[in-house]
Amino acid sequence: MGPILAVAGLVLGAGAVILGLRARDRASATLGALRSTHTDLEQRLRVVDAELGAMSSVLSSMEEGVLLLDGDGRTRYSNASLATHLGTVPGALEALLPLGLQEAVRHAVRDGTTAVAEVETGWGRWLRGSAKRVGDGGSILLVVRDITEPRRLDAVRRDFVTNASHELKTPVASIQAAAETIKTAAHDDPSVVPRFADRLEIEAFRLSRIVSDLLDLSRLESGADLDEEIALGTILRDEAERFERAASEAGVSLEMSVEDVPPVRGSARDLSLLIRNLVDNAIRYTRAGGRIDVALCAEPGGIVVIVTDTGLGIPSRDLPRIFERFYRVDRARSRETGGTGLGLSIVKHVVENHGGTVSVRSELGRGTTFEVRLPTEV
Ligand code: ADP
Repeated sequence: MGPILAVAGLVLGAGAVILGLRARDRASATLGALRSTHTDLEQRLRVVDAELGAMSSVLSSMEEGVLLLDGDGRTRYSNASLATHLGTVPGALEALLPLGLQEAVRHAVRDGTTAVAEVETGWGRWLRGSAKRVGDGGSILLVVRDITEPRRLDAVRRDFVTNASHELKTPVASIQAAAETIKTAAHDDPSVVPRFADRLEIEAFRLSRIVSDLLDLSRLESGADLDEEIALGTILRDEAERFERAASEAGVSLEMSVEDVPPVRGSARDLSLLIRNLVDNAIRYTRAGGRIDVALCAEPGGIVVIVTDTGLGIPSRDLPRIFERFYRVDRARSRETGGTGLGLSIVKHVVENHGGTVSVRSELGRGTTFEVRLPTEV
């Protein structure tokens, strides 16, 4: 081999080595880039996974039912609450029941606005569905909420306002009538004036009692300050004289048995209200010759107040309702004896505010026993 050829051979050999080295560099650079992209992708996937996980736990723990329908009306997603609210998961819009919800979805598809429907299920629950378009593909999101409880509370509130207005109107009408009569009688027949003045006084008193019970009830409904340490025995002893007077006016005998009991934490004013209402009722619903027993004793973890009478008793069908506001078994007797229909409702609120319980047993024509249990401080 001539020298030129030998040199050329060397140059080619070196070139091949250099080329080989470059290709390896490139390959390893590409590998490096791929590895970093892979790591990057893995990280992003982890973030997406975490976000999806968070979203799915939010959606599955939501009280609202969520249904996502695609542009063809097929179910794309639904959460667990939807099945609870609807009783099943519809596969498509056509299977969505109650029909009102389906109509709301169609409405949202048609108008592009949020459509709302309130519907009743076959098992007595009320649902509020709100449907609206989401994204560009014609998907619809339906959110379903159970509104049975708010609707019930609304009805209770409406009934209460109606009842309270009615209860207030009755004495107001009587006061107006008595005032009119007094005005004319003052000229024509002054002898009847005292009778109508008495009526006026009685009705004004009734009115003021209703208003005062309503105010107590509204105060009790917004909770109570339980910041005093109360000896219930003292409250009972303080009230005893008043109870005895009322009992003797009604011709019934009253026995009180007050043990030394541990104090309860609460409101003295409210606990007096509770006892007054129970004992007043016992006296009002017991005929002359009957007997009332009031007892206070300790029991493990608390105290119990028992008010027993040998009065008219309460029919068993009325027992579950007597703690409702304005519920009366015998409206005429309640009115005659100056009842407002709010006493037991006040009792129930005071007991609940103090973390206690109240129970009632009654036998028609034989008598009634109320038992109030209140926890004492440990
Ligand atoms: P009222 O002012 O009408 O007495 P309450 O809320 O105190 O209202 O009581 C509700 C109803 O429960 C009463 O109207 C009465 O029919 C019944 N009731 C309450 N206590 C007694 C009782 N000791 N004996 C018989 N009936 C009672």
